[in-house]
Amino acid sequence: MSINSLVCSSATEAARLLGSNPRARYFGGGTLVMRAINEGDQSFDTIIRINDPELTQMQIAGNRLVIGAGVTMSALLRHRDAGFLHAAARSVGGPAIRHMATVGGNLFAQSPYGDFATALLALDAEVIVADGSRMALVDFLARRNPSSGPTPVVTQVSVNRPASAGDFWFLKVSRVKPKGISVMSFAAHLPRAANQLQQVRVAVGAMAPTPVRMLSVEQALEGHALDAASIEAAARVALEGLTPPTDAIATSWYRSEVAPVHLKRLLTGAMR
Ligand SMILES: Cc1cc2nc3c(=O)[nH]c(=O)nc-3n(C[C@H](O)[C@H](O)[C@H](O)COP(=O)(O)OP(=O)(O)OC[C@H]3O[C@@H](n4cnc5c(N)ncnc54)[C@H](O)[C@@H]3O)c2cc1C
Repeated sequence: MSINSLVCSSATEAARLLGSNPRARYFGGGTLVMRAINEGDQSFDTIIRINDPELTQMQIAGNRLVIGAGVTMSALLRHRDAGFLHAAARSVGGPAIRHMATVGGNLFAQSPYGDFATALLALDAEVIVADGSRMALVDFLARRNPSSGPTPVVTQVSVNRPASAGDFWFLKVSRVKPKGISVMSFAAHLPRAANQLQQVRVAVGAMAPTPVRMLSVEQALEGHALDAASIEAAARVALEGLTPPTDAIATSWYRSEVAPVHLKRLLTGAMR
């Protein structure tokens, strides 16, 4: 089957074309779209790209960092303002994948992929789409369903910038180092005032169909010092709200057994 490739100069134009052609697919860095083509996926025959340089920009806006959807993991790793996201970007695939994989594409990657989206979720990310509207990433992921018609074209993602380097933590658990696929990944934003955790965000990937916030864990930590007692309380509720999958990487049982242990490791590493 031959594939038509269309290049648009704006996200609005791409959104219009995608909306009018159910057999068209947006092409970000193409690490997953190209794999689908190579595997003979017949569900699309047209790929749509955008060559607007705006999509590859990053800028600081007050206490937020705005990242273009077309920014690749490698580009992000070269950007010093995005240092707090470097561990998450470095966890995505190997160097060749990181060179192509985009921030926008990671929001659509099916579990157990989505390590970078997990980090964004813990930073109260907002997704900005082609018509300029914004949506919290948590809602965007909850509604994400590739089989329910065209998805919006994501142009940017905006995240909180942690006040200090020690406030944001990321941990990817995989069996093969350094390029393994996630057994699970965790991200935690742990701002503290007078030694008490405030506005805690903890997210996990590969423990549900999409990355999700660990709301019970957040509640267990909020307002407490990060110490052995609060970490133990968080670990006790680690599995609440999760539906760990069984896939080629790990069984649901295994994921459930090890998730509290890895969460404790992440939080213990963040103690100071
Ligand atoms: C060998 C290999 C290893 C990998 N390892 C990891 C890993 O460790 N961790 C991980 O998280 N992922 C991993 N991935 C998955 C993938 O590379 C990443 O998730 C990547 O960020 C996807 O981005 P992309 O730009 O390549 O997406 P694409 O392949 O371009 O697109 C993926 C999907 O997202 C849609 N899409 C892309 N951008 C947009 C946009 N701006 N607006 C609307 N829709 C969009 C596309 O239409 C498509 O449905 C791996 C993939 C491979 C092949």
